[in-house]
Amino acid sequence: MGLVQQVLEIVKKRNPNEPEFLQAVTEVLESIRPVIQRHKKYRDGKVLERLVEPERMIQFRVPWIDDKGEIQVNRGFRVQMNSALGPYKGGLRFHPTVCASIIKFLAFEQVFKNSLTGLPMGGGKGGADFDPKGKSDTEVMRFCQSFMTELFRHVGPNTDVPAGDIGVGRREIGYLFGQYKRLANEFTGVLTGKARNWGGSLIRPEATGYGAVYFAQEMLKTRDQSIEGKICIVSGAGNAAQFTVEKLNQVGAKVVTMSDSGGFIYDKNGITEEKLAWIMHLKNVRRRRIKEYADHFRGAKYVAGQRPWSVKCDCAFPCATQNEITKDDAKKLIDNSCYLVSEAANMPTVPAGVDLFLEKKILFGPGKAANAGGVATSGLEMSQNSMRLPWPREEVDSRLRHIMSTIHKNAWETAEEYGYPGNLVVGANIAGFVKVADAMLDQGVV
Ligand code: NDP
Repeated sequence: MGLVQQVLEIVKKRNPNEPEFLQAVTEVLESIRPVIQRHKKYRDGKVLERLVEPERMIQFRVPWIDDKGEIQVNRGFRVQMNSALGPYKGGLRFHPTVCASIIKFLAFEQVFKNSLTGLPMGGGKGGADFDPKGKSDTEVMRFCQSFMTELFRHVGPNTDVPAGDIGVGRREIGYLFGQYKRLANEFTGVLTGKARNWGGSLIRPEATGYGAVYFAQEMLKTRDQSIEGKICIVSGAGNAAQFTVEKLNQVGAKVVTMSDSGGFIYDKNGITEEKLAWIMHLKNVRRRRIKEYADHFRGAKYVAGQRPWSVKCDCAFPCATQNEITKDDAKKLIDNSCYLVSEAANMPTVPAGVDLFLEKKILFGPGKAANAGGVATSGLEMSQNSMRLPWPREEVDSRLRHIMSTIHKNAWETAEEYGYPGNLVVGANIAGFVKVADAMLDQGVV
């Protein structure tokens, strides 16, 4: 049995009932085989064995009182996966499906993603099985305060700097920050994704979506094409999706779908800037369902209980959640002549779907490269907080653009170097791995 297989067996045995974590580890380990075979130092240094074991994992009770005066109890997590390159960095997810497997898969992906950005950030992730949907603002605030009351002792601007993810946006970051400040008695950059007027970075809210579009543009350049005039389908209607759509409109593409967990809307006339503004209000202020779009805009239809992957398109941008593109969906996309997939979500395509995209040689940007713009701009927020100096919008955007193009170049060239031309899965995984692995070797057995 080869080393990769041996390590995967250990992971399986040590982490029973954690399919998402195993999926993420399998995908990375299988694609970095060539670098492990080429360099004895990684085998001798037991880098793989160390990488798959979180440095620290915190699980805690989050008790809070709802508006009826009843006590509720949720489970909170923070997985501090790897700090070889810098303080742990990665979002918090509030969603009923949150469990150890989900947070560990996200933390594992985060290690390689953060490495790819070129910024000094380790990898972590956290969250709770709390559902902000249908909760009042005061309930969300009480939950966030209770969550931070435990988390605050494990995080800090030089230790671990969380951000948002599914269910954690500007509102939640505000409540979490307020409670941290009160407990620690200091105003520091302990969270990113803060509001602009109290330490947030311009472009941070936009960064994941904008970055996924910049990455798509880089992929298209390799075939001398541009995104202008392309028909695009987007899933999700949250942060990543909204700003993917905004940027696609700005660069002249036409977006015809968005979705939420209830179903998707199809608007053959395109989700224009004005219609997107309506969706942003619907989702960020009124906190309602995407279904209402079809009642409001003529010519649009709502398809309940489905994802948008059967809609004909040139480019697809999954922006909702993990494993949202099944093998059948991948086949449908290819049969409908989709030739570019840029993953703004984390691990949205199942492994058999990824294999199909690679086999058919469509332009495929894996999440850890294509959505790295979010965490990269969080890294820029950390720098601005340390300097106590905000950068203008243009500066942050141009840095984001540069980072996305560098990630693409790095993944592209690494794939070539290891004999997998055009395969950005292999390229991103190896490029991300090498930097972390070398730092781990430099820092000794810790
Ligand atoms: P939001 O909470 O803002 O939006 C999530 C969207 O996805 C909502 O429309 C939600 O619908 C939908 N969704 C969530 N879970 C499911 C599900 N199980 N099935 C169908 N639809 C679902 O989250 P973000 O936009 O921040 O995150 C979306 C993805 O992007 C995630 O994979 C996240 O990890 C990734 N990402 C986010 C970054 C960021 O900066 N925010 C950075 C990098 C990656 P509903 O409201 O009905 O639940």
